Amino acid sequence: MLELRRHNAAFCSPHFVEFFRRQVTEAIHAYRMFTRDEPILVAVSGGKDSLALWDVLIEEGYRTAGLYLDLGIFDYSQESKARCEAFAAARGEKLYVERVADAVGAPIHEVQKVTRRPTCSACGLSKRYLLNRAALEHGYGVVATGHNLDDEAATLFGSVMHWQTEALARQSPALGATHAKLARRVKPLYRLSELETAGYAFLRKIDYIVDECPFARGATSLAHKEVLNRLEEVSPGAKHNFLFGFLDKARPVFERAADVTLHECRVCGQVTTGELCAFCKLADQVKRRAGAKGAAPAGDHVAPDDGRRPWQTQ
Ligand code: SF4
Repeated sequence: MLELRRHNAAFCSPHFVEFFRRQVTEAIHAYRMFTRDEPILVAVSGGKDSLALWDVLIEEGYRTAGLYLDLGIFDYSQESKARCEAFAAARGEKLYVERVADAVGAPIHEVQKVTRRPTCSACGLSKRYLLNRAALEHGYGVVATGHNLDDEAATLFGSVMHWQTEALARQSPALGATHAKLARRVKPLYRLSELETAGYAFLRKIDYIVDECPFARGATSLAHKEVLNRLEEVSPGAKHNFLFGFLDKARPVFERAADVTLHECRVCGQVTTGELCAFCKLADQVKRRAGAKGAAPAGDHVAPDDGRRPWQTQ
């Protein structure tokens, strides 16, 4: 039996799997994320969330392919990539693999040495850019990520703590394509907690990487998750109420205030608000300061997502 305090309910295994999938399909319908006819690119990291999401979409009959961004982070990357490859092979699904170092000019953990940009910042920027670029190159109009309720509540908490109104405007389970070179980005797990996703992955016997990326240690987003977990313990449903209350009542206000004009980057042609996109600036910095030493390998973890689009660094 799996007890869910926030729903005041307990489920046997088959009913929990059914419940989980229903939450995903309800999320897809509520935000009109995609239809059964269009191909969906699922960003997979080898972790429980993205693989659980891919599993649900396959089982529900959606047309999917996976995309694994190889960050080149030592054993972590090799192990997470192997999980994604095994998952895709067992289900006969297409998996695209891209080496981030090929695009950036150095493994992600070396970018900081040459640019002084924090590893996770360079990683987040590169992921946003490469996800969007891969979707366009391979003909996918929508990218689905495995961000769950805990991820989304923690991101919201962080944005509220610093009153980042632009981030609040962007935080949504579904971001539309506001430019021809922008894929839609959706988070069909936003109604499901981390515990529930772990339960689903366990019941479905999904082999996922349990370890976090080594660079996640000490991340502020993890501290925010801890605070929210403590709240959830004394008040079941607190995370859900926090996130859903924001989405229903506050986000539309912030969204109305936000407006940007988009152009195409003069170097790569991807979307940006200026002349040169943030990714091209980063790659150029790496190239100039590191003497373009070349590529290396990678791994993965679904990092917090505050809705920044490929051109946004702040
Ligand atoms: S913790 Fe996440 S954002 Fe930071 S380097 Fe690792 S995968 Fe990238």
